[in-house]
Amino acid sequence: MSLREQLCEYGRRAVELGLVIGTSGNLSVREGDLVAVTPSGAALDRLTPEMCPVVDVEGYLVEGDLQPSSETPMHLAVYATTDAKAIVHTHSVFGTIVATTMTELPPVHYNALLLGGVVRVAEYATYGTPELAANVRAAMEGKKAALMANHGGVTVGATLEEAFEATRLLEWLCEVYVRGLSVGKPAVLTNEQLNAVVERALNPPTFPRRL
Ligand SMILES: [Zn+2]
Repeated sequence: MSLREQLCEYGRRAVELGLVIGTSGNLSVREGDLVAVTPSGAALDRLTPEMCPVVDVEGYLVEGDLQPSSETPMHLAVYATTDAKAIVHTHSVFGTIVATTMTELPPVHYNALLLGGVVRVAEYATYGTPELAANVRAAMEGKKAALMANHGGVTVGATLEEAFEATRLLEWLCEVYVRGLSVGKPAVLTNEQLNAVVERALNPPTFPRRL
């Protein structure tokens, strides 16, 4: 699948899963110095490959008639400082709730480790600005995900599929936390407990075959 076809596929899935309402999110995928990105103001479930602009890493439009997403500076800032090959940004409900009420998402489930543990909330700045791009870049350091204050969430991956799955996981973790608050006080995993999970994952048990 070409980069632009991937954007159509995952744009459609993002809307289907309710992670994106209409135009409220954007995706990009990088190959070398080129980045294919969803266009500004287009419904993500109705994209065609030709609609998706291609920019270079410096932000110059290389291909396409439509303007790239207004959050393209944020995507490029993350590409400039990480080895990410794909980025997904949405205004998903639970991610946005956490991003409007908290300064970080504490790890209440060990799957948070897949995103780097604690998920930071990047300081608020107007959408599409270099300030927001810088804030997200800082919050993303050493992580696969960040939340953006009063805005939404962003995840990275080595492929668009990976970045997309990270967005699904981020939303799930936020939902568990938010719903947990209505039942009681969610217990946060300690560093010791998280380290034990890493240890366990690195040394999975093997089951002897019955002879
Ligand atoms: Zn946004």
